[in-house]
Amino acid sequence: MNEYDIISLGLGIQPPWRIVGQVLDTSRNPHELRIKIKADRGSKYPCPVCGKMCKAHDFQEKTWRHLNFFQHHCYITAKVPRIRCLEHGIKTAKVPWARKGSRFTLLFEQAAMVLVKEMPVMAAARIMSITDKSLWRIVFHHVEKAMSNLDLSYLRGISLDETSSGKRHQYVTVFIDLDRGRRSVIFAVPGKDKECIKAFNAYLKEKGGCPDNIAVAVCDMSKAFISGIKEEFPAAEIVVDWFHVVKLFNGAVDEVRRKESKKSSMPRGTRWAVLKKADGPLTEHQQELLSQLEEYAKNTATAWRIKEMLRWINEASTSQGAAWRLTNFLNYASRLIKDNPDLKPVKKALNTVRKHKDRILSRWGNDYSNALLEGMNGLFQAARARARGYRNAQTFITMIYLIGAPMGHFLKST
Ligand SMILES: [Zn+2]
Repeated sequence: MNEYDIISLGLGIQPPWRIVGQVLDTSRNPHELRIKIKADRGSKYPCPVCGKMCKAHDFQEKTWRHLNFFQHHCYITAKVPRIRCLEHGIKTAKVPWARKGSRFTLLFEQAAMVLVKEMPVMAAARIMSITDKSLWRIVFHHVEKAMSNLDLSYLRGISLDETSSGKRHQYVTVFIDLDRGRRSVIFAVPGKDKECIKAFNAYLKEKGGCPDNIAVAVCDMSKAFISGIKEEFPAAEIVVDWFHVVKLFNGAVDEVRRKESKKSSMPRGTRWAVLKKADGPLTEHQQELLSQLEEYAKNTATAWRIKEMLRWINEASTSQGAAWRLTNFLNYASRLIKDNPDLKPVKKALNTVRKHKDRILSRWGNDYSNALLEGMNGLFQAARARARGYRNAQTFITMIYLIGAPMGHFLKST
């Protein structure tokens, strides 16, 4: 054991490389620890193309930023050989502590990747004391590399949904693999239309997958997604997830409420009460609010009652039971809103559900759900909010991959 062994171990330095010196430069603020690495004289190095051991042709001095040593910035300097391979000519040899083209050590980059998963890039860059531009470059590299290794030849079931990219009317559509539990994001693309499905088809083929093998696709009731799936993945059974049905009616109830609130004043808290998730019985307070609304705002009350019936359908334990309940719901609700122009948003929602009845009921036949995607969407939106938005769709997509895609190992230097 000599004084450099601990740092050598930490950096993964092996012969012919060894640490030959370190100085603490106190003339700078913060102080800088400079570590010097050298290869033994006369060593041979593998050609980066064919791996054949070759002699050094010449050397170029390079410096990498390494993890801070306590409060001191730390730099590693080494004379990197260019080898002369009989077959491939003159090439710069690889070093074990950094990847080609980076000014940072792999350990530094790994620490940076851990930070950006937890906090906005600007904040992580401040902690690492590098520019956010440098940090983005590290993130882009590692995410791209991880995604380039993705193999989709096994893919059978997908779920897709759009997520807002923050700018007005700009969306990113995210695709997940239904058979992966965690880290199931496999693709994300700007937009929320048919072109997104087309782009996914091309990507799937690129990754060794086969569009005809896709047996299930879970999505919402948008025309663009459904017709896109029919065209690009003709073998897929289209399943509409229940959460999209609830979302549809939430939107309709809110539209009715907004319109009605212009004519009559509503009790405090109405907005949040009518938008609550239809996942449990109404609380006492909500019951009371509902009966007040029956008096002051009849349309909002009716729309809300219709939405609450969704829970009754969702609780059906069999596919037949659900079909029976859904049919009854549609008939009953249609009678309730009959000829009332102020309840048009609800009528529209009912028509949409009627049109996609079979796709909605498919959910009772299999276990697939895009609840997973719904949960992840929350993570993407939280990251976006913390970062106060992203410069463009590509940075948002990189963040989506970092949060939700299988990232593999950051640390391989090849
Ligand atoms: Zn070679």
